[in-house]
Amino acid sequence: PEGITVQELANRMAEKGADLVKALFKMGMPVTVNQTIDQDTAELLVEEFGHRIQRVSDADVEIDTGADVDADETLKPRAPVVTIMGHVDHGKTSLLDALRGTDVVAGEAGGITQHIGAYQIKAKGGEIITFLDTPGHEAFTEMRARGANVTDIVVLVVAANDGLMPQTIEAINHTKAAGVPMIVAINKIDLDTANPQRVRERLLEHEVMVEEMGGEVQDVEVSALKKIGLDTLIEKILLQAELLELKANPDRTAEGRVIEAQLDKGRGAVATILVGRGTLKVGDIFVVGEQSGKVRAMVNDKGQNIKEAGPSMPVEVLGLSGVPMAGDQLSVVENEARAREVAAYRAEQATKKRTTSAPTSFEHMFSALN
Ligand code: GDP
Ligand code: MG
Repeated sequence: PEGITVQELANRMAEKGADLVKALFKMGMPVTVNQTIDQDTAELLVEEFGHRIQRVSDADVEIDTGADVDADETLKPRAPVVTIMGHVDHGKTSLLDALRGTDVVAGEAGGITQHIGAYQIKAKGGEIITFLDTPGHEAFTEMRARGANVTDIVVLVVAANDGLMPQTIEAINHTKAAGVPMIVAINKIDLDTANPQRVRERLLEHEVMVEEMGGEVQDVEVSALKKIGLDTLIEKILLQAELLELKANPDRTAEGRVIEAQLDKGRGAVATILVGRGTLKVGDIFVVGEQSGKVRAMVNDKGQNIKEAGPSMPVEVLGLSGVPMAGDQLSVVENEARAREVAAYRAEQATKKRTTSAPTSFEHMFSALN
């Protein structure tokens, strides 16, 4: 029952859709480019156009991203990527906003900040920190489930008046499972009812021993509302980042992860990509999850159009074939045919997974080559 549209087949053969329609008409099949044809017909057409059918195996469509680890000498320091977690109403959003307000360049640029799912701040010493602007455990666990360990450091927000709550404990467990270092931000210390010491004690029960209790987990008292302790929090993040010696190779084809994506009325499918390694450039051709595309434009968190985005940089990417999922990997590939092939193959694999008993469709089994 599965087939391929005339247009898609034309794309894969790098032929004009209209020429395929003409050929089909001669074969006694009056169809339009948007109509789906069956496997036999498609194979006939492929031969008719002098292409050959190439079976595509799993290995063929794996993207060769080079070694998993780039050679030492290619690595350069990169900014830490920080996720803020904690119980509802403990101040995650407030803290993200307050931290964003500390950006030393935000004022200068005078740009309107954009919500793109992540932002970067420049600290007083010039260091850059990337914050994922999608607080919550779902985002974190969903990303991890998709193999995306984009977070280097978790900031656990605990309201000093409320103490440890169910989602606080969940966050601790997720963070431990991910093996990501944690910094505890004890928030709302401006309140009379704040009891930070109680928070530290309760954390012990969950095997989180903060520095104040003689442990190794950094903790800091803050007030997102009154902007207390923000600089100290930033210092601790930078200290933790230093210990991690975060590095990436900026001089290679780019790889990144989808932080969020949506269909935008005027701009089509748009995704915020956090670049992991390499440098993403306008004009790059890529595969992202089951979608493909060509970077038409990139917009940073300050709403500025940019031409390039390096490691740890979040950037909104325009030019996608469709909306990918959070956590999907983006990989730059050599050409559009390759991008479509890999995306189509992935889409088919995903469909197969959803309908396990379905027979292998031919649709993505071949690519047409001369
Ligand atoms: P989230 O659910 O974790 O994102 O929490 P929000 O940032 O939405 O904050 C929940 C409530 O706590 C809001 O009414 C905030 O104004 C308030 N809040 C956040 N931080 C502070 C703080 O440092 N002090 C006080 N007094 N209130 C705060
Ligand atoms: Mg919130």
